[in-house]
This record gives sequence, C-alpha cells and structure tokens, in this order.
Amino acid sequence: MPATITVHVAGDERSVGEGTTAGALFEGDRSIVVARVGGELVDLAHVLADGDSVEPVAIDSPDGLNVLRHSAAHVLAQAVQQVDPSAKLGIGPPIRDGFYYDFDVEVPFTPDDLKVLEKTMQRIINEGQTFSRRVTTDDAARAELHDEPYKIELIGLKGGDVAEAAEGADAEVGGGELTIYDNHRKDGELAWRDLCRGPHLPDTKLIGNAFKVTRSAAAYWRGSEKNPQLQRIYGTAWPSKDELKAYLDRLAEAEKRDHRKLGIELDLYSFPDELGSGLVVFHPRGGIIKREMEDYVRQRHVEEGFQYVGTPHISKEGLFYTSGHLPYYAESMFPPMEMEGASYRLKAMSCPMHNLIYRSRGRSYRELPLRLFEFGGVYRNEKSGVVHGLTRVRGMTQDDSHSYVTKAQAPAEIQHLLDFCLGLFRDFGMADYYLELSTRDDSKPEKFVGSDEDWAEATAVLAEVATASGLELVADPGGAAYYGPKISVQARDAIGRTWQMSTIQYDFVQPAGFQLEYQASDGSRQQPVMIHSAKFGSIERFIGVLVEHYAGAFPVWLSPVQVLGVPVAEEYDAYVLSVLEQLVRKGVRVELDASDDRFPKKIRNASKAKVPYVLIAGEDDRAAGAVSFRYRDGSQRNGIPVEEAIAEIVAAIEAKAQVTTSPA
Ligand SMILES: [Zn+2]
Ligand SMILES: [Zn+2]
Repeated sequence: MPATITVHVAGDERSVGEGTTAGALFEGDRSIVVARVGGELVDLAHVLADGDSVEPVAIDSPDGLNVLRHSAAHVLAQAVQQVDPSAKLGIGPPIRDGFYYDFDVEVPFTPDDLKVLEKTMQRIINEGQTFSRRVTTDDAARAELHDEPYKIELIGLKGGDVAEAAEGADAEVGGGELTIYDNHRKDGELAWRDLCRGPHLPDTKLIGNAFKVTRSAAAYWRGSEKNPQLQRIYGTAWPSKDELKAYLDRLAEAEKRDHRKLGIELDLYSFPDELGSGLVVFHPRGGIIKREMEDYVRQRHVEEGFQYVGTPHISKEGLFYTSGHLPYYAESMFPPMEMEGASYRLKAMSCPMHNLIYRSRGRSYRELPLRLFEFGGVYRNEKSGVVHGLTRVRGMTQDDSHSYVTKAQAPAEIQHLLDFCLGLFRDFGMADYYLELSTRDDSKPEKFVGSDEDWAEATAVLAEVATASGLELVADPGGAAYYGPKISVQARDAIGRTWQMSTIQYDFVQPAGFQLEYQASDGSRQQPVMIHSAKFGSIERFIGVLVEHYAGAFPVWLSPVQVLGVPVAEEYDAYVLSVLEQLVRKGVRVELDASDDRFPKKIRNASKAKVPYVLIAGEDDRAAGAVSFRYRDGSQRNGIPVEEAIAEIVAAIEAKAQVTTSPA
C-alpha cells in the first residue's frame, strides 16, 4: 500500500498519496492556477507534505492575476530574446493591471518592434510551454547565467536587500531558496529559462489571447541614474478578452482626460523646458482656477479658526536640522546654496518656520489650539524620471497648516481637521473617498524619530478618529513620516482611480526639537503637540486631479470662462454684450466671441473649450428681452428672460454646481 498523508483543503481534511501535488487536488479546474500552502503562494506542481493546508488560487483573484501577469512577463522576455538574442534581462514583476520587463538592448524598441513581440508572445503561448521550478545554488546560478549580468547582480541579495535593490526585484530572488524556472515545449525541449522565485502558471496556454504589449520607456537599472539605462516594456494580461477590452477602454478614457494634454488644449498651464523638469507656469485661465481654489481654501481656513501667516521660500540650513528634515528628508530637498559663509536651502515644507512663529513669544494654554496657515511655496527634489505633469512636480503651492494643541486636545483637533478635509472634497465634487492610516515600520527604527510610547500613543489617537469616522480605512504600514503617523484621504475620481489628497499628521518630534512650550493652567511648562494638515496637499496636484476628474469640464464656479456669448449674427453683438455686462456686475466671468468665425464654428469652439453656459441670442431673443442657453451636452433652452437667465447662472456658481445639461 502506498503511504498516505493528510492535508487540509480549503478547510476539509483529506487523505492523499505521498507525492501528491497541489495541482492534483484541483485537477480539471483550469481556473485554479496556483495554490497557497501554509500561507505561501506555490506552483501547482508543488509536492504536498503531511499536515499542509492548501487553498486554491483562481486566475481572477488578486494573487491569480499577479501570477498570470508575471508569467506573461516571462513570455515577453523569451520573445525579446528570440528576436534579439543579445538582449540582457533586467527584472519583470507584475504591477497594477499589468506587468513590465526591463531589457538592456542596443537600440530602444519601436512601436513596430512591440507589434512583432506581441506576435512572438502569442506563438510562445500557443506552444503551451510548461513552467518548471528548479532549485539551484548561488555558484551554479552564476555559472549558468554568466551571460546575464543583471541577474547575477541579484544573486546573493536576500531578504530586505532585495526590495531595496530594485523595485520588483523580490519577484526574482529573495525567497529562501534560489530557483530557476525552465520553460519546456510539449516535446520536452528546453525553450527558455529565467532566474525567478515564482510561482507561475502551470503552462503558457493559460495566458490565452487576452494580453497586450502596451508601450516601452527608458528606465534606469535599480532606479538610479548612476546605473545603465534599460528599456522597459509594459504589457497587460487578463483572464478574458472582455476584461482586456474593458481595461483598454479605461486606459483610452484616462488618456483622453490626461491633464497634461487638456492643460494645453484649454490653455491652462504649461511646462516650459527653460524652467526645468517638474516646474509649471499657470496661464491666465489656469490662474483663475488656482485663484478660486486659493480663495476658497483661505476662506475655509479662517472659518475653521486658522490664522494666515507668511514665510520665505529659503532658509539657513540649520533650521532643517532642528526640525529633523535634515537628515531624514534630505533626499527630497534641493541641494544647499552657499551664501555669505552660510548654507541655505529651499524649503520643502513650512513647519519649521511656523514653529519659529509659535516660539516668537511665550504661549499660554489659553491660546491653544493655535492654528497657523499659509500657502507655502515648497520645492521637492523629485527625480526627473518620476516627475509627471502637475501630479508630481518639483515646485508647488501647499496649503500648509499647523495646529498646536495640548495632548488632551489632539483627538478633537484631528476630528476637526478630518471634517474640514471631507467637506472640501464634497465642495469639489469628489465625494468618493476612503482613509489610509500610515504607521511606522517597526523593522526600520533608524527611519523614524521618537520613542515607542510616543508612536503608540499618536497612532492610537489617529486610529480612533479614523475608525469613528465610519469611512473605509486601509492600513499603510511603514508609510509614516519620520516625525509621526498620518491619516490621508484617498479620493476616487470619475473613472475610479485613487489619489492621495489631504493628509493629517501627528507630530511630537518637531515640538521637542524646537523646544516649543506653553504655560499650563497650573503654571507648569508643557510641550504642545503639533498637527500638520494639508487639505489640497499641493494646489498644483489637486488641479491636475480635477482636470482629469472633470475631463476639463469644470463645475461653473471653477470654470475659467463661465459664460460665453455667441451672437447668431454680428448685428446682435451689442445686445449679447449688454447681457454679459449685467453678468459681469454679478461677478460672473464672461467672454464674447466676436471673431469672424461663422456661427456653427463658434458653437464648435465653445464646445471644445467646455464652457458651461453658451449664451446665444438672435432676433427672437432680442425682441423678447431674452437669451438662449446651450449646455455642454448640446441641449438647449430658448427664450429665457434675461433676469431669469442671470439668476440661473448666479445660483449655479453659488451652489458649486456641475452644469452639463438643460435643467428644463
Ligand atoms: Zn517569474
Ligand atoms: Zn508641516
């Protein structure tokens, strides 16, 4: 009798023969592509041991999708080396909605190359090549992969070093054993192999035809410009053609909404080369949006008890040592400038300067909470490779606020700030959000300042407020700043993407560094807690998100031009102008299209400019003392008495309404 072992399959106990693989338990179900054994993801070929608990992992689960995409990355790499045997392999992890693989090649890939690669991938997939795992040693792997310098660099890196080595490198090595995966064709011939920790699909056929090579871009090896530049190919893979199509549609929609493109089309802002990477100039129309946002948030801060202050863009470096930004935040700051024997730095945040305002005189408990706020022009040394339009810039305007409170006041102040943020999101029409709680990474104490007790207390206070809000709460372990944990509001935009927006941070480190004090009611000297909050975060970034959220069709109050007057013919110019003048007196932003274009062309231009109200008038309107409105969706309302028309526009601005169609 063959020996049997006992395993637990999705909770049920089963007796199976010795040598049984995880895959044998789910035989016949092609949707199961890997398994979880004792918490670890493994290949279906993994041989089970007595007492193992086994969970099936389906291709459409998050883990299953990662394995599908990562396996597709292997197929891509095999295709690249079929087409160009001299290509050297970097790494190829799964990413959100897809995968990439990095290659060292002589010449960057062209769009035609990508098409050829997609065809080659399909051929490999159709061959039904198996993936099989082989344990090796460092030395044997070095000998076998002597032609792959980047892979060899990864060998020997284990554990935490791997994640540091390169984003995604832990997909290659970093498990307990060093392993190579072989691809065999049906006839047993070895087609390809790659250093990888796995797991993978049992065979390439499971990738099917719902995949696509999407684009290529340059990427430095291990993310550092000191290293060679590789070519990264991105792709996507899905369990079905329908899902692939839905994804590509989402991608096309995102492209249409790209704020870099819309910013040019709508004449909002630009990124002149002369300024340098990640630096923006706002044109008059973009300036209107920026000013509306600033007016709004300044007013709201005053209503919420903040006092408006002002501080410079640069400071002597010592200030940032006192705050701890140096050395903890040094990588994100611009390098020092030498002047009159002192080193100066551009500020990356305003807190150290607000601390100086706090410290400028003695403070009593009666003054707390003391709330300071400004528009801080701050500068962050983002790598040129990650700079992206307005959403990742090097120079930005932060609505930088700091609340100084007693420890006992901290929970109520955090609640107050959270309500403030959520109200702001509702006013900007982004009412779909969740919270993230970023905490310390206990395994890297060197990256965080302060005692365990302080961290525990601060984290507990934030967690309590976040939980009590009843909003969806996601943990972000390790995401805290060096000086304390934070809550952030993650907003979902119109097409379901999430953006980190407002942040609320609890800080006990800077008050200690600056020796901030207040006199308590018993006369003793106490240290306040400082709560950093940014509502928009960066105004530039928020504008970028709004442009994409609204696809450029802003709510009336934010629209650079709120009403565009289009007379049916030139003889009605004066009449339309007289109506527009009445609107201007109500504070409405108007323009008259007095160009030589014919009427239909003017209407097309207005629609492209995404103006909420196109105000039209011809003979009937003039005779009746009325106007007609054309809305963004092309619907029209005719013969509206002028008084009523003005009232409708003014009410829509006040209500921060999004107007796209006729209300009637
Ligand atoms: Zn792999
Ligand atoms: Zn701050």
